[in-house]
Amino acid sequence: MPAFVARLPSRARCVVIGAGYTGLSTALELSAIDGDVVVLDALNIGEGASGRNGGQVIPGLKLNPDELEQRFGQSKGAALTDLVGGAAQHVFDLIKRLGIECGARQDGWIQAAHHDAALDNLLNRAVQWQSRGGDVQVLDQAQTTRLLGTSIYKGALLDRRAGQLQPYQYVQGLAAAARSRGVKIFEHCAALQLRRGEGGWTVTTASGEIRAEQVVIATNAYSSPLLPALPHTYVTLWSLQAATAPLSAALLDQVLPGGLPVSDTFRVLRYFRRTDDGRFVLGTRGAFRDALNGGDVARVRAEMLDIYPMLENVPITHCWCGRVAVPAASIPMLSQPEPGLTVALGYYGRGVAMATRMGGLVADLVNGLPPEESAYPVTPFKAMPAAPLHRNVARVAANVMRFQDLFERRVRGGKR
Ligand SMILES: Cc1cc2nc3c(=O)[nH]c(=O)nc-3n(C[C@H](O)[C@H](O)[C@H](O)COP(=O)(O)OP(=O)(O)OC[C@H]3O[C@@H](n4cnc5c(N)ncnc54)[C@H](O)[C@@H]3O)c2cc1C
Repeated sequence: MPAFVARLPSRARCVVIGAGYTGLSTALELSAIDGDVVVLDALNIGEGASGRNGGQVIPGLKLNPDELEQRFGQSKGAALTDLVGGAAQHVFDLIKRLGIECGARQDGWIQAAHHDAALDNLLNRAVQWQSRGGDVQVLDQAQTTRLLGTSIYKGALLDRRAGQLQPYQYVQGLAAAARSRGVKIFEHCAALQLRRGEGGWTVTTASGEIRAEQVVIATNAYSSPLLPALPHTYVTLWSLQAATAPLSAALLDQVLPGGLPVSDTFRVLRYFRRTDDGRFVLGTRGAFRDALNGGDVARVRAEMLDIYPMLENVPITHCWCGRVAVPAASIPMLSQPEPGLTVALGYYGRGVAMATRMGGLVADLVNGLPPEESAYPVTPFKAMPAAPLHRNVARVAANVMRFQDLFERRVRGGKR
């Protein structure tokens, strides 16, 4: 029980809804001009995806630079590529500037190819980034095996702009920095309703109402229908992770000896890294629900053993899952549905870097930058067509993809 509970103010320049990377980095950026900012979270700080992710700090989006240029035109696409390509650097610079202790290391990220065609795609991606100055290279199978301690992958992309961090410590560090600049953060204080009136917005919570000139919605995959279309602007997937007990010195020599975080290219991908206290943590697609059961633990364990059979006798000590928002346009959505209201969400597993970077872009709009001058495309706010169907389609597609992956593992490499 906290000794002192601050009262919700009746007014603020800006109310930010959601205390994850997007909301807190927005509040932090806004506080550089004026700290009269209130952040509300329905849960605790970082209890959404920001405190429970894989800690992989990856620059760029799921779309490659060429695709961004095709979609947005050469000039705008190139500027956007530059912005998203610099997102990981932005995070590491911010952590250094704010002195956040979160085990941040910018020494690379590996994307490992599970078959030759996937390696060709990675080669193509690497060439695209290299031609734009990105410190990205392709590793052959022997180099990949040396860094990963497993020979199941055909090769990999190594992105030296990327890295890793402890996600919960990072989000707490952002919150502490925001508070030290005057931002007021209220946990267990859900925004229940938004009303637009003269001179701004009224946000209703169970603890009272706040009036604000500007409101930012940063609720990502945990969105409620604060605006009726809000939960229908993306598809929710669940990602499931588990951590082992700390590994012995002998196992640390064998499991990810290179120490870099990894994602692989399976349709239902696995992502994994080692923690500072020597645990192995792996994530993969979760079931379509927040609650876990024993089957979930068994499934992550099977994925761990598929890559590192030597973990057979190492217990899993923690297992958890969280929600991921897959945006309709395949890139994060930045939108202004009404005057004084900004929404940013939908990072599709690239949010450690991109949600942090989004804070500055949102703050620019809140500070009065016209949307057409934004460095990031500000797009119309609308629900996906037939949105309720997408969840069922996603569930079926995920199962089909899982069987395709299992089939490929068997056919292409005996056991794999
Ligand atoms: C298991 C998992 C692993 C991942 N791994 C990686 C990774 O390795 N690398 C990477 O780049 N990305 C990863 N991601 C994605 C990344 O974590 C997210 O993109 C990012 O954290 C999104 O941040 P956010 O602030 O937008 O949203 P969140 O951190 O989800 O915060 C949204 C907040 O809004 C609050 N909220 C919702 N409704 C209300 C309301 N009405 N009133 C008040 N508050 C409300 C929620 O309580 C929540 O705290 C992963 C995600 C998951 C779930």
